[in-house]
Amino acid sequence: MELKANAFAQAATIALEDIQLQTALRRGTHNAYSARLRAMSEVTDADALRQQARAAKLRALRNLPELLERFEANIVQRGATVLWAEDGEACNRLVVEIARQHAVQRVVKSKSMATEEINLNQALEAAGLSVIETDLGEYIVQLDGDSPSHIVMPIMHKTREQVRDLFAEKLGMAPSDDPEQLTAFARQKLREAFLSAEMGITGANFLIAETGTVAIVTNEGNGRMCSSLPPVHVVIAGIEKVIESVADFATLVQLLARSATGQRLTSYVHLMGGAAGPDDPDGPSHMYVILLDNGRSRIRETEYAEALACIRCGACLNACPVYQKVGGHAYGWVYSGPIGAVITPLLEGIANAALLPYASSLCGACRTACPVAIDIPGMLLRLRAELVAEGEAAPALSAGIAAWARAMATPLLYELGGAAARLATRAMASANGQVRHLPIPLLGNWTQNRDFPPFAPKSFRQLWRERQCES
Ligand code: SF4
Repeated sequence: MELKANAFAQAATIALEDIQLQTALRRGTHNAYSARLRAMSEVTDADALRQQARAAKLRALRNLPELLERFEANIVQRGATVLWAEDGEACNRLVVEIARQHAVQRVVKSKSMATEEINLNQALEAAGLSVIETDLGEYIVQLDGDSPSHIVMPIMHKTREQVRDLFAEKLGMAPSDDPEQLTAFARQKLREAFLSAEMGITGANFLIAETGTVAIVTNEGNGRMCSSLPPVHVVIAGIEKVIESVADFATLVQLLARSATGQRLTSYVHLMGGAAGPDDPDGPSHMYVILLDNGRSRIRETEYAEALACIRCGACLNACPVYQKVGGHAYGWVYSGPIGAVITPLLEGIANAALLPYASSLCGACRTACPVAIDIPGMLLRLRAELVAEGEAAPALSAGIAAWARAMATPLLYELGGAAARLATRAMASANGQVRHLPIPLLGNWTQNRDFPPFAPKSFRQLWRERQCES
């Protein structure tokens, strides 16, 4: 997916005026948010469970090299091949090489953000392979030549009616917006793809080092089909997916489903530990696990290492008042919402995503919703500070902050500025005492959707002086 994060302001403006998108976002985020609250309320001590999950992920990040090697040694023992990819290009090259080695023509894929991050589909198609996404949402996105707008629900931005029209146009289905009929139709198409593909590609939700196990959770069973029907199975997983033990997996999986879809557990929890052995009735003859770095080792060395603890549940997106209004595409890359506003600048360079750290009201709803309690607002603030230090902040903002700092350090300037602001806002106030429109271009945007309360008639200093005189 092409990076367009610096066009956030324009994309957000367009999104706010798109009535269909607003309907889809309102329904989607509201339902997901409420479902998570209901599911979490069933947990006896949700906060303790979150802290346990956080500790497991942070411990895994601290011991990352050792855990990755342990994972590799354990899964290799059971017939899998582990490959390491430093970046997206290397990873895509490895997948194409594997495909050539096994004379693969058709590939089925289950949902994976890491493969979106490295543009795997485009690389495979350029190598002459046919690739079909099998997660229903991803399948719809692929049919429409679109891109996912949510980590868990790729078509959060689409209404049922839009899917009806798409299926009628692209697949010749008799128009229906009944979700069951739409799903049954897609299932039929996908079944043919599963049965004819020579390679299946999946991501991984967790890599368990203790046992050398790849864990994926899905609700449609497509991950299981991709990983067990074709003779070749390739797993592509970011290195941060490794965790220490089955006990840690048990903690994390309880929170992942609850936070993502409001379920106690997803319909399928699939644990894979190598290629099929001679006595196994089914399973792939060849299993490859590609461990993708693509900037993660670098982030691990910084003060943003905590961002790698993300288990991609999407709860922070559903809780975020900015995401709820602008949706995922406005963020201009694969990862959207609050965690996207942190990860995109870290992976793609802060100057290439300079607006994203400001795409937040810093209300803290993301941190409250996060099952591993990642301090997203804290990291957004640090990124803003970096932008200012590197001179990448908007010139008007930098000038405003510099003027404010000067005034705060000079009592006379502060007092004169306050007096001027009091006079100006009182002159601009309407009958209800509020300022309806600030005329200055930058501040004018602020009053587009809200009133501005005028400054108090007397400053604190004035009141203080008057009291001193009285006493
Ligand atoms: S940051 Fe937390 S809430 Fe957001 S997707 Fe990651 S784990 Fe979920």
